[in-house]
Amino acid sequence: VDLRGWGEGNGLAAVLLFEGPRSFTGEDVAEVHLPNSPAMVRWAIDAMLAAGREGEGGAVRLAGPGEFSARAFFNGKMDLTEAEGIAATISAASETQLRAAASLREGDLHKWTVETAEKLANLLALVEAGIDFVDEEGVRFIDPAELRAGLQGLAEEMWAQLAQAVRIDRLDDLPTAVFVGKPNVGKSSLINALAGRERSIVSPVAGTTRDMLSVTMETAHGHVRLVDVPGEEMPSDELRAKMMAARGQALLDADLVVEVVAADQAAPGGGRERPTYAAPVMEVMNKADLLAEGCAPGREWGEWQVSARTGQGIETLREDIGEAVVRQEAASGGRLVLNQRHRALVRETRAVLVEAGELVVTFERHPELLAAELRRGLDVLGQITGTISPDEVLGRIFSTFCIGK
Ligand code: GDP
Repeated sequence: VDLRGWGEGNGLAAVLLFEGPRSFTGEDVAEVHLPNSPAMVRWAIDAMLAAGREGEGGAVRLAGPGEFSARAFFNGKMDLTEAEGIAATISAASETQLRAAASLREGDLHKWTVETAEKLANLLALVEAGIDFVDEEGVRFIDPAELRAGLQGLAEEMWAQLAQAVRIDRLDDLPTAVFVGKPNVGKSSLINALAGRERSIVSPVAGTTRDMLSVTMETAHGHVRLVDVPGEEMPSDELRAKMMAARGQALLDADLVVEVVAADQAAPGGGRERPTYAAPVMEVMNKADLLAEGCAPGREWGEWQVSARTGQGIETLREDIGEAVVRQEAASGGRLVLNQRHRALVRETRAVLVEAGELVVTFERHPELLAAELRRGLDVLGQITGTISPDEVLGRIFSTFCIGK
């Protein structure tokens, strides 16, 4: 296609050639730079397509969506997370999202995944070495305590990353604080007091439908969504099953869990195991006015003692919630940027490691069971970047132990 007539001669158009493999996709690439004139761009594209049709082989066509990134990925120029970073950059709707996308694009998650996979692959290599030497007395590559500690360390690291991660797909949603607690501790009243206005109450007839209510609260740190979830109960029918599923999702999405008890009720966890949440938890005691009146046993619980009725402590609680969730949102300092796909895979890998930890007891008799589990963990983790393959583990064994020399 002769572009000269359209301005190359007078500096309006430029063509840059990048020879593979040192190009974005790893292939030979030509870039045509034109002025931002829709008519001229359309003309150039049409001219190239026409030339392609007429020419030998006729191989000119428009690129499919994401095709450049896909080619770069398949040619090993970037991993999946970096390709996702490019997609996230293109669709970024705010500056915060743009910053988070840059972290993916620049390979922060890639680096973390490769390092974590390496730690796991090292444990696997030691376990597999044990399989090969199972008949030899006195040869031991790792003892069970070390193995257990290694697996636990990795699982904890994953949990910590999940709890602190910047969730790129939710960056433009308001940060969310989810309120949990027994019925009648005053969650609704507390949410109203914090939001500073009456919202329309979906009047709860005991034990029937109760939608999850949410209101927006203004704080000095920004807006926060407050969500009141129904109490946990056995899903005895379809409606309740749906409610419990929605409750579970709200808790997974929470940036902060506010656990509320009332001054005149027993503290939570009496005998029952306390649930763990992936988000930080704030312990709040409501109805503190009853303490002052001497109507409650005077037991104090949690760092915050407030009263939805008198307004005591509400202002402080509001700002503390704002600060807690806003700190969560700021992309900074060593925290990973994860999308939903990454979070699901990190959670799954962690679950596999916990299961592997339970196989440590039989490790010396059946190292192959543990090895299979660790391989599975490595496979799941490898799906994050789309790169690591179990073959790498073989290479690692040969290189570190010189088996079969
Ligand atoms: P929820 O079921 O946890 O949402 O509780 P509600 O907000 O419906 O409140 C339950 C009862 O506790 C209502 O009768 C409220 O008036 C009362 N209540 C809520 N907050 C306070 C408080 O700070 N002090 C006192 N004394 N009563 C409160």
